[in-house]
Amino acid sequence: MAEIAVIGAGPAGCAAAIALRRAGREVVLLERSAAPRESVCGEFFGPDAAAALATLGIDPAALGAIPLRHLRIGHGARESTAALPFDAWGLARRRLDGALQSAAGPALRRGVTVLGAQAEGGGWRLRTSAGEVSARRVVLATGKHALRGFPRPASPWMGLKLHLADVPIEAAVALLPCAGGYAGLQPSEAGGANLCAALRQAPGDLLATIRAGSALAARLLRDARPLWARPLAVAGVPYGWRHAGEGPPGFYRIGDQAAVIPSFTGEGMALALQSGLAAAEAILAGREAAEFGAAWRRRHARPVLLAGLGARVLQGWPAGFAAAAPLLGPAFARATRL
Ligand SMILES: Cc1cc2nc3c(=O)[nH]c(=O)nc-3n(C[C@H](O)[C@H](O)[C@H](O)COP(=O)(O)OP(=O)(O)OC[C@H]3O[C@@H](n4cnc5c(N)ncnc54)[C@H](O)[C@@H]3O)c2cc1C
Repeated sequence: MAEIAVIGAGPAGCAAAIALRRAGREVVLLERSAAPRESVCGEFFGPDAAAALATLGIDPAALGAIPLRHLRIGHGARESTAALPFDAWGLARRRLDGALQSAAGPALRRGVTVLGAQAEGGGWRLRTSAGEVSARRVVLATGKHALRGFPRPASPWMGLKLHLADVPIEAAVALLPCAGGYAGLQPSEAGGANLCAALRQAPGDLLATIRAGSALAARLLRDARPLWARPLAVAGVPYGWRHAGEGPPGFYRIGDQAAVIPSFTGEGMALALQSGLAAAEAILAGREAAEFGAAWRRRHARPVLLAGLGARVLQGWPAGFAAAAPLLGPAFARATRL
């Protein structure tokens, strides 16, 4: 019987586990992957995520985070560039998740997939690939993947990610609307670039689909060379979904299992890290899961709704988004922060 079992060692689960361990609580952090690996993600983060990482003792610069200065937006034959209204960075997820998982220390149990969770005798019984685990409290942090019995709504959105070489992107993040969605492109580790797309259907050829969306994309991706055999993909991303906040006693939902903020107009990693810290705080203060869920739902309402609005403008009217970015960008960025 563990005191607290955290399911999933992404940013949300690691933040919760690290904070609980530091406070002297007995935590197990169950992670299905055997080693840190890439995750479908634009790799972009700003001051909210940086502040949460600092609280957790993680220094992104020491991990090779790349400072980003500009926002570039392609819209048909035209393009716009604006200074980013806040400090921002890019960092490969394998590195970030690896650092967070190391910081979780002995709490982390790798290569353990949780297959189901059942309330039992005032606690929880988890069925895992390595046998059963009992815990008084459970923190659900499986991110992009639902745990059986705890579904999220169906969604046509899919996420795709590909690391590339030979992309002249420099210190900028480029937003590239294309048929069926949009992509983000920014520098990544070892002089390469990360291309990450949110699309409503699987493209035949990811690079060709994004190149066809704008002259900026065609130019940036002209000589691009994939560094992976195929893109990483995740299906059914329920953008804009927010959990109702209620839930069974002792069962805390965090990260993408509590709310899914639209990508590139909102920052999922910041939300994930901060929800992990908030859940740890709630558990340490003895607050029940339903109370934590309702409070967290209130806190992320504005960022998630505004990011959804921004994503719709970016897809439907990229020229308008580009024109408004230098003017409204700082206020929008502030309003989408927690
Ligand atoms: C296309 C796209 C682009 C994005 N771009 C950005 C961006 O640029 N910036 C940003 O801030 N956010 C971005 N996001 C969002 C961001 O990736 C997520 O919000 C963030 O990763 C959520 O963190 P998490 O810890 O909740 O989940 P995850 O990062 O998904 O981590 C979940 C962890 O749980 C593990 N796990 C899953 N199921 C089980 C199980 N049954 N048993 C044990 N372990 C399990 C997984 O292996 C994983 O390690 C993007 C998302 C998408 C889809």
